[in-house]
Amino acid sequence: MVKAVFPGSFDPPTYGHVNIIERARSIFEEVLVVVAINAGKHSVFSPDERLAFMREIIAPWPNVSLHCYDSLIVNFAKEHHCKVLLRGVRSVQDFSYEFELSVMNKGLDPDIETFFMPTDSKYFVLRSSAIKELASFGGDVSSMVPPVVAKALRRFHPDQRGQPE
Ligand code: ADP
Repeated sequence: MVKAVFPGSFDPPTYGHVNIIERARSIFEEVLVVVAINAGKHSVFSPDERLAFMREIIAPWPNVSLHCYDSLIVNFAKEHHCKVLLRGVRSVQDFSYEFELSVMNKGLDPDIETFFMPTDSKYFVLRSSAIKELASFGGDVSSMVPPVVAKALRRFHPDQRGQPE
């Protein structure tokens, strides 16, 4: 039985991330979703907000757990006895970035393997950064992110600030 770590910024989580978790949880004994806290990387949503989104998203799934971590992800994997780092891939560009990252992680800890999961075609255009921009112009993001995230994104649109959530 193998446990997988699914790390990410999740700033914010999209249906693309949700789809990866949902598929992975039927393959692995447990999926540990790790919200990366990177002091050097600017995030729009705070670590607490990103954790709260994820907590609500994974609530129905007993073999998915939520964590945060502010150091090397291979160390987290080792501490939690996980052999697999799971990463989603949307495009060739994603793959070349993810491939380099996986080589680096393999160098740091040869016992941990990176598994790539291709995005479902429904979600390949979903990108947290583009969704935040769309929301700031008042675009409808309800087909792209779970309701808890769509509500929070309303604060980015001037006309919708202060509206009841
Ligand atoms: P990071 O800053 O670690 O790249 P992200 O939250 O952007 O964090 O992404 C976490 C993981 O989810 C990455 O492996 C990324 O490629 C993957 N991912 C992001 N969006 C999608 C999507 N729409 N479909 C599948 N995988 C995705």
